[in-house]
Amino acid sequence: MTSLNQNQVNGKFSCNRGHTDGAGHNTQDWQQERQDRIASLMQQLEQGVAGIQSSEDFKRWLKVASRFHTYSLNNQVLILMQFPTATRVAGYRTWQSLKRQVVKGSKGINILAPQPFERIIEDKATGVEEVARGITFKTVSVFDISQTEGEELPSIAPGQLQGEEGVELYRRLDDLAEREGLKVTHYDLLGEAEQDPSYNGYYLPGSKLIYVKRAAQVQMVKTLAHELGHHFDAGREGSPREERETVAEAVAFVVAAYYGIDTTAYTFPYVAGWAAKREGAEIIKGVMTRIQQTSHRMLDLLEVKDTEPKLNE
Ligand SMILES: [Zn+2]
Repeated sequence: MTSLNQNQVNGKFSCNRGHTDGAGHNTQDWQQERQDRIASLMQQLEQGVAGIQSSEDFKRWLKVASRFHTYSLNNQVLILMQFPTATRVAGYRTWQSLKRQVVKGSKGINILAPQPFERIIEDKATGVEEVARGITFKTVSVFDISQTEGEELPSIAPGQLQGEEGVELYRRLDDLAEREGLKVTHYDLLGEAEQDPSYNGYYLPGSKLIYVKRAAQVQMVKTLAHELGHHFDAGREGSPREERETVAEAVAFVVAAYYGIDTTAYTFPYVAGWAAKREGAEIIKGVMTRIQQTSHRMLDLLEVKDTEPKLNE
C-alpha cells in the first residue's frame, strides 16, 4: 500500500484529537489508541519505502548515485571555490559512462586525487632494503553536471505537495515553535534554497531558527513539522544524517496524518532516498523508538492549547 487510507486519516481518531473529551474517554485508553495509531502509520511507512526501493526507477537511481564520489572536505572547498553553483561533479569518463558528454570548451574543476606510492630505500652502509610508503597528490579535473549534456539522470526526488489545507495545523506548529523559543522565517539566510531547489527548509539549532520555503500550504506544514521533528529528536546528536532525516520526516508524516493531512507522496520517496545508504526498512526499524517518542511529544505539545483557557477568543 503506497497511499494513506483517507478514512483512516480522517476517521474517528483524528476527529477526537485535541478535544478534552472528558466524557467516557480516559487518558490511558487514549494514549494506547495513539500508540496503536503510530504503530500502524509506521507500518505504512515501512511498506511504502520498501515499495519504492524495489521499483526499477529506484534501482537505476541507486546505480547512478554509486558512481558519484563523496569528496573530501578539501576537495569540496576546491570545487566550491572554482564552481560555486556545482551540484553533481564527476570525472570526464564517469560522465561518459552515464551517457553524458562534457560540453566542448568547458573548463575543468581541479581537485586533488591522492596517489599512494611505495619506494624502495636502500641503506647504503648495510645494504638492507626498506619499503617506504606515503601519499602524494596529483591534480585531476572534474566537471559539474551543468557542463555536460546527454541523457537525463534518473531522479527519485520527492515532488512538492500541493493543496491549501492544513492552515490550522500550521498555526499550531508555528505556535509550538514560538513556545520553544524558535523563530520561523521564510527568509533563506543561508541561500541554500536558491542553490538547490529541492531544499524546502532547514533548522539551525544554534541560531534557534527554522527556515520554511514558501510553497503550497500542505508542503509548508510538512516542512515545518519536519524541522520541528529535528528539534524534538532527543537522539539527534551523534546520529548519522540518514537516521536524522528519517526520524524528522517520519515524525512529520505521523503528525500530519493526525491532522488529516497525507504526506506520503513526499515522505516515502524522501525516506527511501536517505535510507538507500542502508536497507530502508532496517534504518526505520533502528530509529523506531525515536520516531515514536518524538511524535508523541510533538502531538502532546500541539494539543496543549486546547486545554488552556482562551483569553481573547
Ligand atoms: Zn531534515
